[in-house]
Amino acid sequence: MSILDKIKKFLPKRKPPEPKNTVPQEKEHIRKTFGAYCNSHHETTDGKLCSKCTALLTNVMLKIQRCPYGIGKPICEKCETPCFGENVTKNFLEIMSSAQKKVFFKSPLATVKHKIAGIGADYAKMQREKNSTEKQKEQEQKAKAKIANATRSPKNSAKSKKSKHKKKK
Ligand SMILES: [Zn+2]
Repeated sequence: MSILDKIKKFLPKRKPPEPKNTVPQEKEHIRKTFGAYCNSHHETTDGKLCSKCTALLTNVMLKIQRCPYGIGKPICEKCETPCFGENVTKNFLEIMSSAQKKVFFKSPLATVKHKIAGIGADYAKMQREKNSTEKQKEQEQKAKAKIANATRSPKNSAKSKKSKHKKKK
């Protein structure tokens, strides 16, 4: 036992530690996965992205930045209330799952960490459901409403743009 541990024994127990900020890690992992996917599917090289993948990644990164769950967010693949919009979420999940093996060989540690984060999210969800009080339910609903509001406006504007194009044709 180190001296530090001995000292800790005499100190009053502290509150549980704040959740770690794993968002930068997750972003880096997503970036790498997108690179691996685009390189093998869209004839790009060196982890660079084609314009379509760049647009998708930019969208995803922006949404992560505005995530209502903050730094304690679950990884996006495990999120119960994905805020990317239907199409982007579908593409995102497809890229993340299909390029997983390629990224694992490039950076196994980051992939394992990402996997653990995913398991953590599942576990946290289980625990939440177990001891969810009225107050927590209320908070979750508020978070969901927040996301719904955040996704509504860009979705609508994209749709209206599309319909305009169709009319021109
Ligand atoms: Zn691409």
